[in-house]
Amino acid sequence: MNRLITRKIVDNVYRLKAPQRSLSTDAGVKLPSSNSGQEHEQMQGFSNKIQEHDIAIVGGGMVGLAFACSLASMPLTKHLNVAIVDSNPALLSGVCIKKEDPPDPRVSTVTPATISFFKDIGAWKYVEEHRHAYFDKMQVWDYTGLGYTRYNARDANKDVLGCVVENKVLLSSLLSCIQSTDIQKTIYPSRLMTLHRNSSSMGVGSTSSGSLSYEWGHPVKLDLTDGGSLCAKLVVGADGSKSRVRELAGFTTTGWNYSQNAVICTVEHSVENQCAWQRFLPAGPIALLPIGDNFSNIVWTMNPKEATDRKVMPEGEFLQDVNYAIDYGFGPHPKSSTSGNGGIFSWLKPGVTLSATECFEVPPKVIKLASERMVFPLSLRHANDYASKHVVLIGDAAHTVHPLAGQGVNMGFGDAFALSKVIAEGIAVGNDIGEVSLLKKFEAERKPENIAMMAILDGIQKAYSVDFGPLNILRAAAFHGANYISPLKRTIISYASGEQRLPIFS
Ligand SMILES: Cc1cc2nc3c(=O)[nH]c(=O)nc-3n(C[C@H](O)[C@H](O)[C@H](O)COP(=O)(O)OP(=O)(O)OC[C@H]3O[C@@H](n4cnc5c(N)ncnc54)[C@H](O)[C@@H]3O)c2cc1C
Repeated sequence: MNRLITRKIVDNVYRLKAPQRSLSTDAGVKLPSSNSGQEHEQMQGFSNKIQEHDIAIVGGGMVGLAFACSLASMPLTKHLNVAIVDSNPALLSGVCIKKEDPPDPRVSTVTPATISFFKDIGAWKYVEEHRHAYFDKMQVWDYTGLGYTRYNARDANKDVLGCVVENKVLLSSLLSCIQSTDIQKTIYPSRLMTLHRNSSSMGVGSTSSGSLSYEWGHPVKLDLTDGGSLCAKLVVGADGSKSRVRELAGFTTTGWNYSQNAVICTVEHSVENQCAWQRFLPAGPIALLPIGDNFSNIVWTMNPKEATDRKVMPEGEFLQDVNYAIDYGFGPHPKSSTSGNGGIFSWLKPGVTLSATECFEVPPKVIKLASERMVFPLSLRHANDYASKHVVLIGDAAHTVHPLAGQGVNMGFGDAFALSKVIAEGIAVGNDIGEVSLLKKFEAERKPENIAMMAILDGIQKAYSVDFGPLNILRAAAFHGANYISPLKRTIISYASGEQRLPIFS
């Protein structure tokens, strides 16, 4: 039995390694494999045949590249021929990061689960070459002064709660990682314009009007904005919240826009910040995230009018507003309970409240603006399906969330890992990688988890959007509960780290 399965796997891998059909047509740039020593090969010209790939990844952002790296890291998928379509010039020229460069105002808080994933695919060593900041403490409180929670990695027997990394560092690390692998990869420096799906599964193309044309050999043809085309057995939409793949493949979505924008920027302190801070204000949360050296990143949610004003106001005034918001404004600091009596939770057994001894701390003062200020509209959007025949969605193309808990790209990395694993399992048993039943396994694994996370984030957003006496007290009770009850605290840390599945779905 085992021999049979092994034979099947070897056959399938051999089939995937068999020479691909003719290469010609549009301007794809083939990247060299790590040990081939080939120069970049620019393919130009035009002919009737279009280039064929096993997988076309539309969107070479953090999630699309992580998916490519994950495929390259697995024995059963590293033989695939992958195309990456994205007009971001960094994909061809690389991201040049110098130590003295100012920090990128766009950062991501990555969870321990993401760090493990990056280590497994071989990308974390590149992150460690650049600025990044592990943090082992986090303090969350609200402006009413009624309660606070301090999380410490040691509450959950961990070394760190997460790591804050500039997006340009994540992107460049994934690029270095993919370039160091042997997977066949071609970058198309363009954007997806249209998709044509084959009506049969015989690999014979048909135009959208239904008439047969024999110009492409794989089930989906992609036309690009630069006039080029390619075809693939599977199209992976990793093209962000306004996904063209999602639209063209006819996936419907559910969601809404929040009447909130996020102002983000990098700021400087006179001392190094080693804690992640988040304070809930009447108009939305402000987060101060350590990013290494004496820098922190600010993600500040507010109404769109305030965001527009704060983007352009003089630096001095802006810094004053930031310090007011993160520290002394709106209301008093919560009182520290060093006695450990637990207040409303004093009836709990002493062993359960062990973690309540951490005092409230005042965040470090912001003294300088260290980057431009950027404004992002915020929304929640979820694709009702992630998979259909030969097309699948991952990352923000499948789900866009409020950034208040820094989970968005972590959810996308979870998709990237799950999809590559499902494809490997499909190859092992001889499945067609574009088969909808295979892709639905990926959807079944990721959708419940993503929906649960979205519901929690949306719930927190809504709970903190209302300034109403009784609700404020309930929120304070929630802070107290999270601070005093050790098992609850451990559980929250575990979920936020991405290391434990949400209980309703496990
Ligand atoms: C203010 C803010 C703060 C955030 N902080 C965090 C955080 O701390 N932690 C966290 O986990 N998440 C955070 N997020 C969310 C995170 O930024 C997103 O989840 C993440 O960027 C999604 O990555 P992605 O690769 O799926 O999409 P994107 O980053 O949007 O990348 C999509 C790529 O597709 C390309 N593309 C688009 N259209 C086409 C097309 N037609 N053809 C070809 N290519 C195309 C684009 O050029 C781009 O490169 C934050 C978001 C915001 C707004």
